[in-house]
Amino acid sequence: MTQRRPYLVGLIGTGVGPSLTPALHMAEGRAQGLDYVYRTLDLGELGLAPHQIGDIVGWARTLGYDALNITHPCKQLVLPHLDTVEQVARTLGAVNTVVFDADRAVGYNTDTTGFAHGFAEGLPGAHLDTVVLVGAGGAGTAVADALLRMGTCHLTVVDLDVDRAAALAGELCTRHPHARVDASSFDKLSVLLPDSDGVVHATPTGMADHPGLPFDAALLHADLWVADVVYRPLDTALLQAARAVGCRTLDGGHMAVYQAVDAFALITGITPDAARMTAHFRNLVAQPFPPSTIRFKEHP
Ligand code: NAD
Repeated sequence: MTQRRPYLVGLIGTGVGPSLTPALHMAEGRAQGLDYVYRTLDLGELGLAPHQIGDIVGWARTLGYDALNITHPCKQLVLPHLDTVEQVARTLGAVNTVVFDADRAVGYNTDTTGFAHGFAEGLPGAHLDTVVLVGAGGAGTAVADALLRMGTCHLTVVDLDVDRAAALAGELCTRHPHARVDASSFDKLSVLLPDSDGVVHATPTGMADHPGLPFDAALLHADLWVADVVYRPLDTALLQAARAVGCRTLDGGHMAVYQAVDAFALITGITPDAARMTAHFRNLVAQPFPPSTIRFKEHP
């Protein structure tokens, strides 16, 4: 029997050093009996510019990589350099996973599928008709597309940067013409949240180096589910406040784990043990982490 050579996977982006994803993939690879090597490839440390992502994808293929995870600031830039982009990622206009097959580089987005899978696991049966999304950045965009695919009929995007919220809402309307997507401002949350099924928070507020609440906790009510994408810490001030008034909650670990679960499956063709990866992730997040290495732009 021919022994398969080890899997070789890389994570490309800026500030990827502290990422938990390499450890998560390699532990699951070991548990599956695979030789699985996963390296961070930090653009800054390598002296490479984001616009070189096309070259980097080509070099990775030549050097024998099986796959790449792509993160900030290359998720959009990489698209024109791929042979095929799977439909969900193409619709989103962002790729976080590239798998090399015999002669093609194929792009996927497991941030958005990861949010959907994590939501299904953590908030089963939750109503999704009317949802507010707070934060229109990279994570918010992946979440928004997931919610609209999962059946949200009315999504309102709120961001301190109202132009950014309006731009995302406009793009989502084009991508999901059957849904209603609006942009709104923070001061309208007092009107929006009483009539919403749920709220997803996707700004850095609540991270260890950005502590606090993203909006007034008095706006939370027991009929609202609350999902946070922040996962360092897992139990954010927002989730604590939400539990205190009786909300169902979902922490950011679900999305972080399932982006890796989905990527591992695409790379290896093996369905990983999601419960084992979750346990490993939660163990990693619980370890002391030097505050200076927790950054605004953090990658699972
Ligand atoms: P980003 O910079 O792309 O977007 C952040 C958005 O939040 C911006 O539009 C900004 O205007 C807005 N914002 C910033 N401060 C705000 C505030 N105080 N109140 C309201 N809006 C504010 O960042 P991102 O990549 O989308 O990351 C956001 C958070 O999501 C980070 O905490 C990151 O660690 C987390 N994240 C989690 C996962 C996961 O898998 N769970 C994945 C990606 C990112």
